Amino acid sequence: MAGVRLNGVRKDFGAVQVLKGIDLDIADGEFVVFVGPSGCGKSTLLRTIAGLEDVSAGEVTIGDRVVNELSPSDRGIAMVFQSYALYPHMTVRENMAFGLKLAKHDKAEIERRVDAAAAILNITDYLDRKPKALSGGQRQRVAIGRAIVREPQVFLFDEPLSNLDAALRVRMRYEFAALHQRLKTTMVYVTHDQIEAMTLADRIVVLNGGVIEQVGAPMDLYEHPCNRFVAEFIGSPK
Ligand code: ADP
Ligand code: MG
Repeated sequence: MAGVRLNGVRKDFGAVQVLKGIDLDIADGEFVVFVGPSGCGKSTLLRTIAGLEDVSAGEVTIGDRVVNELSPSDRGIAMVFQSYALYPHMTVRENMAFGLKLAKHDKAEIERRVDAAAAILNITDYLDRKPKALSGGQRQRVAIGRAIVREPQVFLFDEPLSNLDAALRVRMRYEFAALHQRLKTTMVYVTHDQIEAMTLADRIVVLNGGVIEQVGAPMDLYEHPCNRFVAEFIGSPK
């Protein structure tokens, strides 16, 4: 396991400054939720933490290692996106095993990890089905399963529930909370849904226009928003 440190992280796309200097220490095992309006840089920040984007300035470290200096397989990160394309021609088990096969884990180890993840996610009964025979929620669990089997040091989630209907979103919120309690792995979660953030986060980070407006425990932000933007975004009374 490991924490994540963002130290003066900036990201420009050409002349456009998307991340304008982000400083944040995420503790080992912490569940941190980034919220903010569309276009404020949430996905860019996650991709930067994942090492999928180079930083324009500053540094991201996982544990004591700089992300961009590591090869992808050494970063210890697993990311789940909102569009969680599963391989349609593969069964659930094959979908979950695929990345581990590429990484040349042996067969018994792959089976152990897939079975353990399936048990956590309650999809053991669906392991031999193809994705088209699953509901939206079950597919989402398989996508999370693909991340769990990699046994990452850090999970990154980019609006993982935004394609699900409202009732399922509510249920899956509790599943994420349970998953974190069970695995105790560092989780960085992005959403534009305030309630999701309030339910899941140890700390919420409110992002606006590529800068952090405020960081705090959900009730701190709710009761003591530092400005009108945070108050309106979190939905606090004042
Ligand atoms: P969010 O996830 O908060 O909605 P994004 O991180 O996707 O925001 O995008 C933040 C800003 O960065 C947007 O203005 C977007 O157009 C811009 N952006 C994101 N990725 C790229 C890219 N690869 N090239 C140019 N601009 C980008
Ligand atoms: Mg986004």
